[in-house]
Amino acid sequence: MTKNTAMRIIASQNGVRGIADAMRALKNGASALDAVEIGIRAIEADPSDHTVGYNGYPNIVGELELDASIMDGKTLNSGAVALMRGFPFAISVARQVMERKLPHVLLAGAGAERFAREIDAEAWDDMLTDEVREVWRRRLTASAATGAFPTLSDGSPLLDWVKLATDPERVEGTVNFIAVDGQGDIASGVSTSGWAWKYPGRIGDSPIIGAGNYADNRYGACACTGMGEMAINAGTARSLVLYLKLGMSLAEAAGEAMRDLRDLGSDYIGGMNLIALDRDGAHIGMSSETGRTYIYQQADMMEHEEVEREIVEIPARWG
Ligand code: ASP
Repeated sequence: MTKNTAMRIIASQNGVRGIADAMRALKNGASALDAVEIGIRAIEADPSDHTVGYNGYPNIVGELELDASIMDGKTLNSGAVALMRGFPFAISVARQVMERKLPHVLLAGAGAERFAREIDAEAWDDMLTDEVREVWRRRLTASAATGAFPTLSDGSPLLDWVKLATDPERVEGTVNFIAVDGQGDIASGVSTSGWAWKYPGRIGDSPIIGAGNYADNRYGACACTGMGEMAINAGTARSLVLYLKLGMSLAEAAGEAMRDLRDLGSDYIGGMNLIALDRDGAHIGMSSETGRTYIYQQADMMEHEEVEREIVEIPARWG
C-alpha cells in the first residue's frame, strides 16, 4: 500500500491501454469522471480484450450484452446500463444516464438501447468478430453431450448448460478505473461484457452501484472484478467504503470486504478481485488468487506501475 495526495489513477491490469490517455486528460484539467470515461473507452474499443465492450465473449446464446457504471464521488450521483446490445461504449452511455439528469440510475436491455439511440451514442452493427463467435461455438460444443448446440437459441432449456459452460474454465474479466482529479474529486467506473457464456439477461456486479462500484469523496472508492454474484450478495464496493467511514485503514477495510466475500454461503463461489483508494491517496488491490496485479499512475510519474495484489484466499466451490 502506498500513499500520496497527487492526481492519480488506479485501474485493473487490463486498463493498461487507457491509463496514459486518462492521465494526460487529468493533467490537462479534465475531471476525474472524464478520466475514468476516457480510460475505459480505450478498453471497450479494443478487440483483443474479450471481457469488455466490443468483441467481448457473448452470453450462452451468442449475444453480447454489456454492463457498465460510473460514480461521481463528489455528488454521489451515478449512472449505469446493463444488458445493452449494439453500443460498444457502455461507460459513455452510463455516464449520460447520470449527466442527462434522468430520474433514474440504471437502464437495462431495450430501454438502455433506446436511451443510447436517443442520445446518439455510437452504435456498431457487428459487435463480434468471427474469431470470437468460433470460440463461443467450440466452447459450447465441447460441453454438449447431447448435440443440443444448434437449438440453443430456439428456446431450449439453458439452465444446465450455463453450469456446464462456465466452470471451471470460465473466462473472467472486467475493467475498473478510479481517478482523483486536480480538485481532489474521486470518480470510479466499471465496464464489462460480463461473465462469458452467462444466462441471457444475467446482470453482474459491474452496473450495480454498491456491488461492483462505489465512490465517495469523503472516504474513498472501490471497484471490483470477478464473480459478480458474490459482490452483489456482499455489497462489496459500498461495504469497503463504509468500513473506511467507520475508521478502518484502507488495508483493514479491503481485507474486511474480501473476508465478507469469503464467508458467503452460496453454492457457487469463484474468484474475486478489488481495487480501492482512500481520500488520503493510499491505494490497494486485493485478490482471491495469486499473481494478480493492478496498475496505478500519479501525475508525477512518466508511466504507470504494476503492483501485486494482496491475497485473501476464498476457496472456490461449484454447485
Ligand atoms: N464482474 C463481472 C461480472 O460478474 C465479470 C468479471 O469481472 O469476471 O459480470
